[in-house]
Amino acid sequence: MEIAFVRVADNLARFYITDSWPAFANTIRREMISGVPTLAIEDVRIYDNTSVLFDEMLVHRLGLIPLRTDLSTHVPKDQCSCEGVGCPTCTATYTLSVEGPRTVYSNDLIPQDSTSAPVHENIPIVKLTEDQKVVVEAKAHLSTGRNHAKWQPTTACGYKNYPVIVIDEQCDGCGMCVDDCPRGVLATENGKVVVVEGRLEECSLCKLCERACLSASIGAESSIRVNPDPTRFIFTVEGDGSLPVVAVLSTAVANIRKKATDLETILSDVSGREKP
Ligand code: SF4
Ligand code: SF4
Ligand SMILES: [Zn+2]
Repeated sequence: MEIAFVRVADNLARFYITDSWPAFANTIRREMISGVPTLAIEDVRIYDNTSVLFDEMLVHRLGLIPLRTDLSTHVPKDQCSCEGVGCPTCTATYTLSVEGPRTVYSNDLIPQDSTSAPVHENIPIVKLTEDQKVVVEAKAHLSTGRNHAKWQPTTACGYKNYPVIVIDEQCDGCGMCVDDCPRGVLATENGKVVVVEGRLEECSLCKLCERACLSASIGAESSIRVNPDPTRFIFTVEGDGSLPVVAVLSTAVANIRKKATDLETILSDVSGREKP
């Protein structure tokens, strides 16, 4: 199996996985969404809230603010030496104190440790009018998307099979499929339809081209056929900024490896056979 990156930025990555299979591609997708820990606000002490939002709604909004996460310094509470009491290794603390009239933004959340600051400065939390006030202390800890969506490090994470387009000899270059393709993948050239250079990966496998060809041709077979390659996948991953997308992928792969090793150990214990 091979992974090749086409595009890598802090919050966006596009990569191919080749020589793999659908179950494994889906395992990677699921682990990136729900198995990689990030920080999110979980406990809030409200000293004052005279805004129009109920305490619960205010706390819910605070919980959804993406926070910068450093997996090398923070550990989940249940693995911390403080035994879940809460210390700087497992808990990030924030204070927020704002008086109206003005909007409370995510940058009003002041972290005790600046490395755990909110990712974005301008996420609106609540609009305060004259004499309204919000004063809270919030604590964030590490967890995963399996427990709540607020701990997901990705905002979009999906894949599609690599498209395989075959055009046969019967094609007369009528261009009907070119007109119907919504992604600009096809063009006519020298009386034949061809795949535009560099556009193949944009194909969504919608098969509108096949349908257009069928309605245009006299025969019962389409001259263009589009099929998914079951061994090759195109991934697009967008992060919420709490972790770089590459760190999300590498942590997900490490988790899968650990689970596979644990399973091997359990199976060898049960069967009494040596691990392969
Ligand atoms: S399957 Fe859809 S996107 Fe792909 S070439 Fe055909 S019409 Fe275009
Ligand atoms: S619709 Fe069929 S015959 Fe016409 S250009 Fe496309 S593949 Fe060729
Ligand atoms: Zn701790």
